[in-house]
Amino acid sequence: MPDKINYQKLALEELERIHASNKRPSLLFHVCCGPCSCYPLTFLCPHFDVTILYNNSNIYPPEEFDKRLGELKKLIDYLKRDYGFEIKLVVPAYDNDEYNKALAPFATSPEGGERCHVCYRKRMAEAYDYAEEKGYDYFTTVMTVSRQKDSQIMNQIGEELSKTHTRTKYFFSDFKKNNGQMIGVQIRKKYDLYNQIYCGCIYSYQEMLQRPKH
Ligand code: SF4
Repeated sequence: MPDKINYQKLALEELERIHASNKRPSLLFHVCCGPCSCYPLTFLCPHFDVTILYNNSNIYPPEEFDKRLGELKKLIDYLKRDYGFEIKLVVPAYDNDEYNKALAPFATSPEGGERCHVCYRKRMAEAYDYAEEKGYDYFTTVMTVSRQKDSQIMNQIGEELSKTHTRTKYFFSDFKKNNGQMIGVQIRKKYDLYNQIYCGCIYSYQEMLQRPKH
């Protein structure tokens, strides 16, 4: 088995190159929710003009999509008030029925398995298409902050997609490293953001309903 790559080290090395260039690049940031974004936004915003793409037609039901979006908007407002970050937000059309056509063949796959790999790739590919079309300098995804998601796979997907998206550079990351996840939890608690208890799709929603209640 090949050694795991430290993708957050690659992120820090890329930031050094950006500083040396004296430029402030634009970055299209695929974001799934407010809580996951807390630390990555404080990491990225000092270096990039960040636009969030809330591309998450995986989320079921629609009320949950809206609720997570509402919390994300609150976070953007708090970060402007407390850090002075000017973060733009783009919300593509939501279509859970269409999205599920891609996930349905893997309905019984456990969380973290093949269904999730399809889901990471689909959301990242759609977001990367948007970044490329609009001419952003960089693209990355918030999802590497999650301990439930394999950052090696997500970065491999990003690297692969970058071969056909040559205008926009993929920004490698592993936001959970260097205490990133813990710092994110502290920020989430400080802002009292709603923290969802399932990943997002109808399958993870159903799994959540079947969990024993304590
Ligand atoms: S569990 Fe999460 S990552 Fe996996 S398919 Fe569902 S929404 Fe996508």
